Amino acid sequence: MELEAWQLLVIPLFFGLGWIAARVDIRHVMQESRAVPRSYFKGLNYLLNEQPDQAIEAFLEVARLDPDTLELHFALGALFRRRGELDRAIRIHQSLVDRADLPQDQRMKALYGLGEDFFKAGLLDRAEEVFQRLEGGVHAVDALRKILEIQVLTKDWQLAIVTARRLEKLGYLSQNADTAHYYCELAATAMLRGEQEDARNFLKQALRENRRSARACILQGDLDAQAAALDAAIASWRRIEEINPAYLPIAAERLIQAHGRLGRTEQAVHLLQSYLEQRPSPDLLHLLFQTVAEHQGWEAARKLAADELRRNPSLRALDDYLQASNALQPESEDGKVESHLAQDLVHAQVSRVAYYLCGDCGFKARQFFWQCPACARWESLSPERVEHE
Ligand SMILES: [Zn+2]
Repeated sequence: MELEAWQLLVIPLFFGLGWIAARVDIRHVMQESRAVPRSYFKGLNYLLNEQPDQAIEAFLEVARLDPDTLELHFALGALFRRRGELDRAIRIHQSLVDRADLPQDQRMKALYGLGEDFFKAGLLDRAEEVFQRLEGGVHAVDALRKILEIQVLTKDWQLAIVTARRLEKLGYLSQNADTAHYYCELAATAMLRGEQEDARNFLKQALRENRRSARACILQGDLDAQAAALDAAIASWRRIEEINPAYLPIAAERLIQAHGRLGRTEQAVHLLQSYLEQRPSPDLLHLLFQTVAEHQGWEAARKLAADELRRNPSLRALDDYLQASNALQPESEDGKVESHLAQDLVHAQVSRVAYYLCGDCGFKARQFFWQCPACARWESLSPERVEHE
């Protein structure tokens, strides 16, 4: 095929156009790179050399020279908060909030960041005030959750109830179980003040929020016991059998005492025995063991511990068993020192490893809390001590 002269000219023309396009592209890149402040590259260099403090200072310089780098401002703010440098985080977020040219969504984001800074700094009043300014915006639910967290921390239970309602109205998860605890807190305070009628009303509200609230039943029983209505108290505590039997170990001591005051300890023993048959519980066993030892003697107590040790072996059942065995051993018998030593060792081990354990964050507590002191979740602590290294 013969090429015509004009076709031969097209090839170098395409080459030429390609060369010009490449030059234009390179020039554009060069211009852009010159527009990026030198501190940015310095910061990158520090980052690559694992010198985060110097990198932060360099990026701060970029942010100062170029206020338009919004994402960099937000990243630095969050980073300072994470590092605990809260005054610097607050300064960055505050400067963003104060900027008149910021679009509304970015201002809201900065406000939320500022609220989180104040919250982490423990300035709860200021945090709450900032979160309240986010009402109605895209951060409304998150801000309301933070407000609720603050009200729970400061034990403003009445306000917490209102906030929980508002959260539910915004479509957030049902708050009934937590709200029942807020009412229980109010009831417990009223009981301490001797305001029994108020306490009774708060407990009614708690059960309306969560009819399976073991805590409300326990408090209801306590209130009845305070008024010397022991049968009513026993009935309240026994409601836990139906609604949430895992919490029976918390009610067991109250049941024993109330039955004892009515001269019906035998009934309490039968009741706790029936609980123990339904579910193993070293804490329940220990209470029952002590009651049986006191009212029926060490022989019956040893038999109880031995049976339970066979059915549900645990260090605590062994501790109880050894205690009864030692009590039954005659003073003169050889080996008494050794068997006491063994019991002391087991007892020390029980004290070391038996805890109420938070199923959520793993916090271990010597005493029972309805709200985990570490992660603030309600009812996340096991209702009886577990043996845990
Ligand atoms: Zn926890």
